[in-house]
Amino acid sequence: MERIGIVGRGLAGLRVASELRAGGYENQIITWDSDPYPPYDRPALSKKMFGEYNHPLSADGLGDFTELGADSVPHPATRAWSEEGKWFVLSQNGVSEPLDVLVIATGSAPRAVIPGARVLYDVDDAEALRAAIKPGARIHIVGAGWIGTEIASAAAHQGAEVEMWEVTPSVLSRTFAGAVDDLWLSWMREAGVKVNLDSPYSGDRTGRDLLIQATGVQADVAFLDGGARSPHGSLVANLSGEVLEAESPTSAVVPGLYATGDCCDILLPNGQWRWGGHWTQALADAQRTVSAILELPRASQLDAPEVFSTQFGHEIGLVGEVPAGTSPTVEQTGESTIYRWMDHSGNLVALLGIDAPREVSRARKALRHKL
Ligand SMILES: Cc1cc2nc3c(=O)[nH]c(=O)nc-3n(C[C@H](O)[C@H](O)[C@H](O)COP(=O)(O)OP(=O)(O)OC[C@H]3O[C@@H](n4cnc5c(N)ncnc54)[C@H](O)[C@@H]3O)c2cc1C
Repeated sequence: MERIGIVGRGLAGLRVASELRAGGYENQIITWDSDPYPPYDRPALSKKMFGEYNHPLSADGLGDFTELGADSVPHPATRAWSEEGKWFVLSQNGVSEPLDVLVIATGSAPRAVIPGARVLYDVDDAEALRAAIKPGARIHIVGAGWIGTEIASAAAHQGAEVEMWEVTPSVLSRTFAGAVDDLWLSWMREAGVKVNLDSPYSGDRTGRDLLIQATGVQADVAFLDGGARSPHGSLVANLSGEVLEAESPTSAVVPGLYATGDCCDILLPNGQWRWGGHWTQALADAQRTVSAILELPRASQLDAPEVFSTQFGHEIGLVGEVPAGTSPTVEQTGESTIYRWMDHSGNLVALLGIDAPREVSRARKALRHKL
């Protein structure tokens, strides 16, 4: 292989480049992205909004494109297609030279549909929010998911007046379907955050200084010709990161095309989905993808999906996927609160730890499984 292309210079793209070099690949790596900053940690944008919000991934030893000797095109890919066994990428710089392998790592960007609303996805967004969130500022947030609640926490801590609107009857409803409302709503009340559940946004322009929309994300893959799309509109890949054919999304793969990180959902061998959108998955999946590209032995274990968050003075960790229609058991010990969801045989399927790092780490090990 003479030339490998990576579209997207976020966590997943950076890890792919690092793993390629670690795996002994010495030829050209070429990358595309319009984000002007060296790759940074997106979770810090909301969790450390008023601290070190622009935290470079290189500071955590996760790689540095310059040191890795990768070529960087400072523009987005506007089209990618294959011809006679090679891949090509079109950007403002023109068409790339023929690529032997193309890796899509374009992540998922927020959906912004309310006119005048701001979102939080990159460093520039975080800077704009920091400038506007001041003591006494009236902040309206649409969407009480992970990012909406983290922004609410940071803004309330700064002394802003925060009001939220959520169209479903629950906070974090996509993850917990109402199971944690009592706890979260009590934190929000204490912090002075007003929450309107079951309520589409109805705030008026005169009653606010800043409107933030945090209602979900969409994979950025429209520029790519080929490959299957999941029910969420993301690319469909297998556990090796190979993108599946659109016509036969259960078996055949598109030659030379890989996807990793938030831009893809993984179709497992048992026909179940492993949805994208998790930092830990973007970190780990790059290694399996590169093993497939370089034909190296693949990791033999698969971690359960994981979410971590910092809100209202609490460290939160969720491991596993909360099953629909099952109530958790709740255990309170000292400062920690632990929610456990079990299957019909009494096996743990998901654990939410509030200020309970040891339990979260135990659950991570328990829910890891062999491939
Ligand atoms: C504010 C915030 C808080 C978060 N908090 C958490 C958390 O607590 N826990 C957690 O698990 N996850 C969290 N996430 C999600 C986490 O950041 C992602 O899972 C992780 O960044 C995925 O990495 P990625 O490289 O796949 O995508 P991204 O980090 O989104 O990087 C994708 C890159 O692709 C580029 N790109 C897009 N389209 C194109 C194109 N056409 N051409 C070239 N480049 C393109 C983008 O500019 C971007 O730089 C958070 C995300 C945000 C925004």
